[in-house]
Amino acid sequence: MPVQGKTLMYALALAAALAVGQPAAADRLLAYHFDVGHADMTLIQSGGCNVLIDAGRWDRNDVLGHLERVGVSQIHILIATHPHADHIGQMDQVIDRYAVGQLWATGWEHDSRTFERFLDAALEDDLSYYEVRAGGGVQCGDMAMRVIHPVDPLEGIHDGVAVRIEHEHATLLYTGDAEAAHEREMLARGENVEADVLHLGHHGSSTSTIPEFLSAVDPKMVIYSAGRDNRYGHPHDEVIERVKNHGAAVYGTAERGTIVIGADAAGIQVRVEHGAGGPENSISGDDCIDLNTASASQLLQLEGITPRLAGGLMSARQSQPFESTAEITRVQGIGQDQRDAILEHRGACVH
Ligand SMILES: [Zn+2]
Repeated sequence: MPVQGKTLMYALALAAALAVGQPAAADRLLAYHFDVGHADMTLIQSGGCNVLIDAGRWDRNDVLGHLERVGVSQIHILIATHPHADHIGQMDQVIDRYAVGQLWATGWEHDSRTFERFLDAALEDDLSYYEVRAGGGVQCGDMAMRVIHPVDPLEGIHDGVAVRIEHEHATLLYTGDAEAAHEREMLARGENVEADVLHLGHHGSSTSTIPEFLSAVDPKMVIYSAGRDNRYGHPHDEVIERVKNHGAAVYGTAERGTIVIGADAAGIQVRVEHGAGGPENSISGDDCIDLNTASASQLLQLEGITPRLAGGLMSARQSQPFESTAEITRVQGIGQDQRDAILEHRGACVH
């Protein structure tokens, strides 16, 4: 893509940035996976850095509203994983509205109105444009961002930008619409793909998330971005089954609406917009989380409960329901001290 007549290869000083090490106390990590229909839009924040990966659909008008509600004032790194209209759909509006530090893209061009609008907006702005390749990366706030795909020459439009984001308290992986062949290439190159949270490739399509890739990522939790009743049938059942068999919790925007991952010293937490019985992120102080009936995402609202502990708790109650909250120590990994912290912070109960 001939932006400003030049192409910048982006393979720079990640090693140096990482060598400095993480700050002593990393700021909380927040990753918003917005419900933007059948499309991707993810905002990741930590240490004052805002990273936006993709920007919704071309035929909707919801991206700026989401950013406004979160209170974003600038975008440090804007990533266009690939130039399809369900990924760069409203990116022109983002570029027009916000100060964008760097734009990362593959350089693959696409013959569409949406792509033209995106390109025009980028050309008119004084942002720094980079065609990123595996091996590049930067430190942004408290996050080490590493590009793990693609390499040259590009094979097609889905041969997009994949990034692994490392934070003191969680590691996240985003692969856009990367397909099986691209996942195999990443593994063959020996890229470090391990992550606590995996955003499923290609909206959970069975053309992505091959078993070898899933094993190598070894996620505790996966998220997919897909529209309700989309015509592609995303996410595909076999992918969801594969992920569940792997032992990872699954959250999708089609059922849960916007999904927010938080990570700090207490672990990884999830907030969802919709859940069984209403918005799970709006449980009031009077409501309690019943250890015997709560969903995994409700359990994750308890202080210090990680996806792994939530899974352990659910299997413990299946073999024998809890008779009192004190019995939570039956769950492997929850000791007395942690029990007290869990019970103090947010009303856990047993009915
Ligand atoms: Zn897509």
